[in-house]
Amino acid sequence: MAQQCIFCRIVAGELPSDILYQDDKSVVIRDIHPVAPTHLLIVPRVHIPTLNHVSPEDAPLLGHLLVVARHMAREAGLTGEPGDEKGYRVVLNCGRGGGQAVFHLHLHLIGGRPLRGIG
Ligand code: AMP
Ligand code: ZN
Repeated sequence: MAQQCIFCRIVAGELPSDILYQDDKSVVIRDIHPVAPTHLLIVPRVHIPTLNHVSPEDAPLLGHLLVVARHMAREAGLTGEPGDEKGYRVVLNCGRGGGQAVFHLHLHLIGGRPLRGIG
């Protein structure tokens, strides 16, 4: 655990947060500054600073985070049939230039309003 890392502290229960889901590898919290009606963060329990720090051995964990994102999307009512208006976005910001502000790897799950293409 990185001592000053805000997400490590949340995972350890040292900081209050709105935990919606947790398992042995991950914790899901609400983003404190939501950009959409649903804005969740899927946070691995282990401290990995950025996507640049992952190794091939982390592949199962990264896959697990996506499966959790899909589960949470379904729970939030964001999944639908192909072609309908429902849907969501999963974002992983890497590095300051990529918009990352918290250096503990995490996925954003964003939905509940229309989202257009990246750009
Ligand atoms: P990123 O820019 O990808 O690093 O995203 C970091 C996200 O963490 C931002 O959307 C913040 O609003 C969110 N955030 C920062 N501190 C907290 C916190 N204590 N609880 C929940 N979300 C947080
Ligand atoms: Zn951390």
